[in-house]
Amino acid sequence: MTDQIVTAHAVRRGRECWIIEIICPHCGHCHQHGGGNGLVARGGHRVAHCRNSHGRGYFIDLDGDKSVEVQYDDLC
Ligand SMILES: [Zn+2]
Repeated sequence: MTDQIVTAHAVRRGRECWIIEIICPHCGHCHQHGGGNGLVARGGHRVAHCRNSHGRGYFIDLDGDKSVEVQYDDLC
């Protein structure tokens, strides 16, 4: 089974790393994932945080340019 691709609902700079929020395609709830601590948040495959995920996951598709804008908005 191929995991779905989801787009980020929100990306913000956390204290230590990026925080990516997505609306889960499996359960419909909002899940948060780390996006690394680089200049821009990094997407990629994540295991879903559903209560009954059964190991399912998804690929987070991030628009790099948008991530940069969000970063600077949040820092101001
Ligand atoms: Zn879920």
